[in-house]
Amino acid sequence: MTPPGGARLIALEGIDGCGKSTQAGLLAVALGAHLTFEPGDTPLGRALREVLLHTGLPGARAETLLMAADRAQHVDEVVGPMLASGRWVVTDRFSGSTLAYQGAGRQLDSPALRQLLAWATGGITADLSVLIDLDVERARGRLSAAAADRLERLDVGFHERVRRGYLAEAAAQPEHWAVVDGDRPIEEVAASVAAEVRARLGWPGAERS
Ligand code: ADP
Repeated sequence: MTPPGGARLIALEGIDGCGKSTQAGLLAVALGAHLTFEPGDTPLGRALREVLLHTGLPGARAETLLMAADRAQHVDEVVGPMLASGRWVVTDRFSGSTLAYQGAGRQLDSPALRQLLAWATGGITADLSVLIDLDVERARGRLSAAAADRLERLDVGFHERVRRGYLAEAAAQPEHWAVVDGDRPIEEVAASVAAEVRARLGWPGAERS
């Protein structure tokens, strides 16, 4: 957690197609925050993405470690320096994605996974994770045919487990998570996201006004 009045880290989370990239972009503009994403927003992260694209679906533990490597580099190169410079950061996915995808989806949740997360981030946690919650079928319907095809490679229960994993994590850590109904027009979702951020973290510069 960052100190009161300091820069804040906000993570947008949810299943593919829920609208989190759209909302991350809108929130970053509204806040004047730096916008970033996982996996892949560093040179190492882009290389890891290429490896994943060309080698197919890795085993669950290998996938977890690759994602952890991406996050460690992301924290060192992007998130940490931005926060240290006083800039708010909005990230499209962060540690919540590991808990939902590898923990719940690939059924690896354990104290060891949570320790790995803390170690990979050097202790940086999101000040607020915003879950854009949406039914799996509705989310799939929003994706391009190619993206939907990629997702079909995973068994049908996978995305349901991921969604339930997110909801369980949010329910267990209500002070760290906000859940926003994603099944509404983009502007309405954006207004709810902004309202949650304002109520829980304030707004950059607001302390000076
Ligand atoms: P994600 O990052 O969660 O995969 P995106 O933000 O990329 O999702 O959105 C997936 C698709 O759904 C995009 O075409 C986007 O324009 C559309 N979309 C996003 N939010 C909404 C919404 N609230 N209602 C309808 N379509 C949406």
